[in-house]
Amino acid sequence: MVILKTANTIKKMREAGRLSALALKVGGEAVKPGVTTAEIDKAIYDFIVSQGATPSFLNLYGFPASACISVNDELIHGIPGNRVINEGDIVSIDVGACLDGYHGDNAATFVAGTASEEAQKLLDVTKQSLFKGIEAAVVGNRIGDISNAVQTYCEERGYSVVREFVGHGIGRDVHEDPEVPNFGAAGHGPRLVNGMCIAIEPMINAGTRFVSTDSNGWTVRTKDGKLSAHFEHTIAITDNGPIILTDPD
Ligand code: MG
Repeated sequence: MVILKTANTIKKMREAGRLSALALKVGGEAVKPGVTTAEIDKAIYDFIVSQGATPSFLNLYGFPASACISVNDELIHGIPGNRVINEGDIVSIDVGACLDGYHGDNAATFVAGTASEEAQKLLDVTKQSLFKGIEAAVVGNRIGDISNAVQTYCEERGYSVVREFVGHGIGRDVHEDPEVPNFGAAGHGPRLVNGMCIAIEPMINAGTRFVSTDSNGWTVRTKDGKLSAHFEHTIAITDNGPIILTDPD
């Protein structure tokens, strides 16, 4: 069931979203050669808690950290630990904050030091595809219009779209209806209406679309070992167009 949000609720979600975006920024600034993923997670945790909020992912379905931190061929759900970040690594950070009962959720892939040309292009295309999806998130369209905008943009540039994991509605729960796939046919799926809040999150591979989950039950990585990138915003769909809630400003 899709839970529509009032203007007042969207205001609250904007505050949760702003904090989530700032937490992501803190994480991104911590990405440097030589740091461990646990150190990045600690910086994020400390920031969220200092703002009177709680990390949305900590203990969610049993996840043991505040942020999912996934490196290179890892796509999502990487568990922070003693892994040391190297020069040129790409580091996807997915983080949410809960404030006053509402969640924000956002992700971005950062570069430690200088990216290879190949990695930078993947990041640029994945980020741009998120904005293509947001542009399609207008009242009267359907979820499939968002999905198709992301898929078309990425596939036309030679990248593949992960099928097993999708975006989602968001509000008092991190994951609400509807599902927001990054692939599919335009004109299909639930109709977009004023007051829907969703997280759009393209997960895009440099090689094939196939992924596997590590034996730890969490870390998802590409089957072919090639790079993967992930960008996400929480948005509100309104009669005045989409509003990015996870904006740090
Ligand atoms: Mg999400």
